[in-house]
Amino acid sequence: MEAAAPRGTQDILPESAEWWQQVETAAREVARRFNFKEIRTPIFEHTEIFARGVGETTDIVEKEMYTFMDKGGRSLTLRPEGTAGVVRAYIEHKLYGASPLQKLYYIGPAFRYERPQAGRYRQHHQFGLELIGSVDPAADVEIIGLTIAFYRQFGLKDLEVRLNSIGCPSCRPRFRETLINQLTSRKAALCPTCNERLDRNPLRLLDCKNPDCQAQMQDLPKTVDFLCPECREHFDKVRRYLELKGIKYELDATLVRGLDYYTRTVFEIVYRGLGAQDAMCGGGRYDGLIETLGGPPTPGVGVGIGLERLILTLEKQKVYQPQIKPLDVFIVACGEKERDQTVGLAYRLRSYGLSVDFDFQGRGMKAQLKAADRSGATVAVIFGEEELRNEMVIVKIMQDGTQQNVPLIDIETALASIIMGQKASNMG
Ligand SMILES: [Zn+2]
Ligand SMILES: [Zn+2]
Repeated sequence: MEAAAPRGTQDILPESAEWWQQVETAAREVARRFNFKEIRTPIFEHTEIFARGVGETTDIVEKEMYTFMDKGGRSLTLRPEGTAGVVRAYIEHKLYGASPLQKLYYIGPAFRYERPQAGRYRQHHQFGLELIGSVDPAADVEIIGLTIAFYRQFGLKDLEVRLNSIGCPSCRPRFRETLINQLTSRKAALCPTCNERLDRNPLRLLDCKNPDCQAQMQDLPKTVDFLCPECREHFDKVRRYLELKGIKYELDATLVRGLDYYTRTVFEIVYRGLGAQDAMCGGGRYDGLIETLGGPPTPGVGVGIGLERLILTLEKQKVYQPQIKPLDVFIVACGEKERDQTVGLAYRLRSYGLSVDFDFQGRGMKAQLKAADRSGATVAVIFGEEELRNEMVIVKIMQDGTQQNVPLIDIETALASIIMGQKASNMG
C-alpha cells in the first residue's frame, strides 16, 4: 500500500494550518462587518440539485463531479460548488419565511475532477457569500465590495475586477441566436469542444481558452449590446455604485462564467501582483436559481472565493505573515519525583488559561531544556530538587535566559504577569 493522498488533494500540515486558521478568521471577521451569517450545509447533496442548479450542459456537471450511489441506491454528489446547496437549504427551511432577504456565508471544501495545477485541487476550499432576496444593484456591489475588503485585509491591493452582464431570460435568447448564427459560419475554425457545445451552450464558447477559438471570438456581438432595458439599467447602476465606492473594474465581454444559473452581473477578481492572470474568485447574480430548485421566485447574487489560491499568493507575495501565538510555558523536571509535580502543574496552569507543554519521552533535564527552547515557549518552569523542598520553582525567560525563583503557591499570577511583560516588550 502506498501512503499517498489521492491525486489533486493536499494535506494541510500544522505549519500551513496557521495560514488557514488566520484566513478563515479574517473571512468570518469581514463577513461579520457586512452582517453576513454563517450557514453550514452537507458536503454532499442529491445529484439532481447540481444537475438542475448548475446545469446539465456545463463542464462541471458533464465531466467534473464526484457522483456515487449510496447503499440505498440514491445518486449523491460531493458538492462541486457552494451556491446550489445553500439555495437548497434556503428553500427547505423556508428561510424566506420572515423576510426573503438573507445574507449568508460558508467556508468549506468543494470537489471537482479536473486536471490538478498550482493552486487548483480536486478538493479545494471556498469562502462563499450569498445575498439572497434582492434585485438591488447595491447587492451585487455589496458582494464585490466585501470580497475586495477581504483581500485587502492581507495587504493585497493590486486587484482588478472584471465585469460583464449576460442578461436575463427575456433578453438572452436573442443574443444566443445571433451568436449561434455567427459562430456556425466559423465552425471549421473552432475546436472540437466548441463545435460540440455550439448548439447547446453557445455562451461557453466565448471563454474557450483555445487560441484558435479566441481568434474567432474577437469581433462577435457582446452580451451587453443585447440587454433589455431592465438589465441595462441594472448593469449601469452596478457600474455607478462600483465607481461611487472607488472600486476599479474592467468590462470583459468574454466573461460568461461556466455555470448556467448566472443572470445579469458576472464578475471575476484577478490579482495583478506576481504577473498572475488567473481569477482569484468569481461570482455573479442568479435570479432564476431559487425557482429552478423549487423555491419561490427569488433573486440572488454571490461569490466563491478560492482559498488555496489566496494562500498560495500570500505565501509567495510575503505581504502578509500569519501571526503565530507562541506556547506560554514548557515545564522541565529534574527527576522522577519532580516529574509527578509537572503533570499536576501543567493542568493547573492550563485551567488558568495558559498554554503549557512538557516532556513525554522520559528525557533528562538537559534534553528537556533543549525541548523547551525548541518549543518556542515564552518561559520554562523548572522543578529543581532544592527549590521544590522550599515550595518554589525556577522561572526562566527563554528569550534572554534570565531566571527567578517563584513560590509555587501563586505561580499562576506570577507567570501571567511575566508572560504579559514579555509580550509587551516584544511588541515594543
Ligand atoms: Zn434582460
Ligand atoms: Zn474552443
